[in-house]
Amino acid sequence: MEERRKCILKTRLDKIVITVVHILMCGVYLFELLVILPRIYEDSSSVGKNLHIVAGTWILFNAIASLWKFVLVDPGTGSLILPSMLKPGWRFCWKCEANYPPRSFHCFQCEQCVLVRDHHCIIGSNCVGYRTRRYFHLMAFYMWFALLYANLLNMDFVWELFHSFGSKTLLTMFMPLLAWIFGVAEGETLAMAFFSSFCILAFLYGTAVILFHIRNTLKGRTTHEEAKGLGAKYNLGLTENMKSTFGNNWKFAWLSPLIPSPMPGDGLTFVEKELLSQCGKNL
Ligand SMILES: [Zn+2]
Ligand SMILES: [Zn+2]
Repeated sequence: MEERRKCILKTRLDKIVITVVHILMCGVYLFELLVILPRIYEDSSSVGKNLHIVAGTWILFNAIASLWKFVLVDPGTGSLILPSMLKPGWRFCWKCEANYPPRSFHCFQCEQCVLVRDHHCIIGSNCVGYRTRRYFHLMAFYMWFALLYANLLNMDFVWELFHSFGSKTLLTMFMPLLAWIFGVAEGETLAMAFFSSFCILAFLYGTAVILFHIRNTLKGRTTHEEAKGLGAKYNLGLTENMKSTFGNNWKFAWLSPLIPSPMPGDGLTFVEKELLSQCGKNL
């Protein structure tokens, strides 16, 4: 059972970041809906246009639902009872004053130890850990997919912008504030240039982020384990690695953050690759 965090978005910066993320996500959605789609489909009742609206709304809903699931779910130990005796491979956290299992680390922003801690994500101000990694990955995937979709829809417009503006295009697209100050572009063109350039830059950054996390997911390791070269022993093969990120229902869990998909194990004990292969040999 997922436990809610007691306190979310504690600082003013957390609230500003999540507000800006919502404005950008909804801004791109409205830009595609109100500016780009009418340019592609002049007939407002076109089937193609309506299919794009349904697909875009589904992507936006999943991105926002994944973000809020990530914000709300407790990445720590919740109501789990931790042992009072220090077990082999475990460590004592002086901040939490409790014993914690392997793969857990203390997060100074969340002010608690987090099971299978990956990293603290500034979007949503929460740790990516045992209970939250599914929602972080879905959030990253749907945001990236939304940008890919938007860039494909924007292609003709961006091409047109390059041809109609010539040398001033780069300034308008990548430094819209300067373009506005120098009067190179204004009004609707400026807004269109801002959103289309944002989609390109955010997509490039998002692609690098998502490739890094996909690689870690496929190898069954966290960002910390990747950095320290420690993750090999938890690499149990594709199916088990996918389950450890997306839950037991991993084949369908990626379709929506609202699909139930319980996480395997308890986040305290882990099957290691060597033990698994030894068991296989003994059978
Ligand atoms: Zn701690
Ligand atoms: Zn944290």
